[in-house]
Amino acid sequence: MLVVPLIERKRDGGALTAAEWTALITAYAEGNVPDYQMSALAMAVVFNGLEPAELAALTDAMIGSGARLAFPGFDRPRIDKHSTGGVGDKVSLVLAPLVASCGVAVPMMSGRGLGHTGGTLDKLEAIPGFRTGLTLAEARAQVERIGCAMLGQTPEIAPADRKLYALRDTTGTVESIPLIAASIMSKKLAEGLNGLVLDIKRGSGAFLPKLADELALAETMIRLGDERGCPTVALLTAMDRPLGHACGNALETEEAFAALTGDGPADLMHVTYALATEMLVLAGVTSDRAMARQTLEAAITSGRAAAKCRELIEAQGGNPAVLDDPAGLPQAARVEVFEAPDAGVVSAVEPRTIGKAIVAMGGGRRTIDDVIDPSVGFVITAKPGMSVARGEPLASVYARDADGMAIGLGALREAIRIGAAPAEPLPLVSHRVTRDGVEELA
Ligand code: URA
Repeated sequence: MLVVPLIERKRDGGALTAAEWTALITAYAEGNVPDYQMSALAMAVVFNGLEPAELAALTDAMIGSGARLAFPGFDRPRIDKHSTGGVGDKVSLVLAPLVASCGVAVPMMSGRGLGHTGGTLDKLEAIPGFRTGLTLAEARAQVERIGCAMLGQTPEIAPADRKLYALRDTTGTVESIPLIAASIMSKKLAEGLNGLVLDIKRGSGAFLPKLADELALAETMIRLGDERGCPTVALLTAMDRPLGHACGNALETEEAFAALTGDGPADLMHVTYALATEMLVLAGVTSDRAMARQTLEAAITSGRAAAKCRELIEAQGGNPAVLDDPAGLPQAARVEVFEAPDAGVVSAVEPRTIGKAIVAMGGGRRTIDDVIDPSVGFVITAKPGMSVARGEPLASVYARDADGMAIGLGALREAIRIGAAPAEPLPLVSHRVTRDGVEELA
């Protein structure tokens, strides 16, 4: 096909037809459009955006490039959650078994750590033996049997997006709301869902730090989902400080287990319950949000959510005993406590500094082939607004060697700021976005 005239039209502010997008994405997935032409087109989209009909055609073409997860004859509602990613964001590990234990099926397809943000697959793989590389047939059978499966994007799902996203990652073309929306939604819509909840992170540690962009991304993804028979709701949640206390793969997995057994940090539980409430309402378990919250709390206190998580771990090859004895998770060779250098009020715990330090300590990837050390990271008890005395313990660093420990302690000195006047932290859950508009919650 002739790609140059399409690139030129997009460059000059015009639009491609739906048929042109379909032909282009099909040819690209089949290897018949070179990467250099696709990256020129992606850059034209970064500058000029996409019209709604173009976005719809691009998304449909990416879904159509692969297989879909289908559940013929299975009548339980299937709902997933997607997060734009953050530091300390272990919500998925709590949410999937929690919601499944309330009778909703959760086929959850997640990603790996990206830049300074962690990834659900890396946290799950901290559990010895846990297998995230399920095939679609295995995922489907497991969802039908136990109500949830947690897996990586399989090669069958949206292969055109897989190829295009890898290209965008290396050509400075990730930062485009329509391209991000099409990329995320093509994978989610291929999961055969009846509903989707989006967790759009806000603040300095978020992928998109500006509120206007976060709302635009939410609205774009909601429209794509709703128009394709997948009712979609978004919550905007705080990522101006890490979520919970633990940051780093195995440490976050341990904290998620604590949350499932009723001992989770208050901020983690607040965000998890808010997202899980949306999932229960979308699934039609109840239309009463207070009732949904009670159902979720009862699933934790009764032990049903933890039992579902043991079932999930066992189904995917891990030892379910780790949930009750986290000593079975990878343990760091060195642990040191970080104390407050001064008295005062914690004014910030900068999540990007923490996320980047985890990568530098070996807990994240610099290149796709890096092998990560799941044991490293931080447990940070300091939160913005907290008054602290000089010498008070604020965090622990978990490192594999002296160099890693030095990086970790240095990062905490930079990330945890102590001053007289705390900056106002963002509300944990600030906006709810649906097809009907934006509701400000706080
Ligand atoms: N995550 C995705 O899957 N795609 C994007 O474009 C950005 C983040």
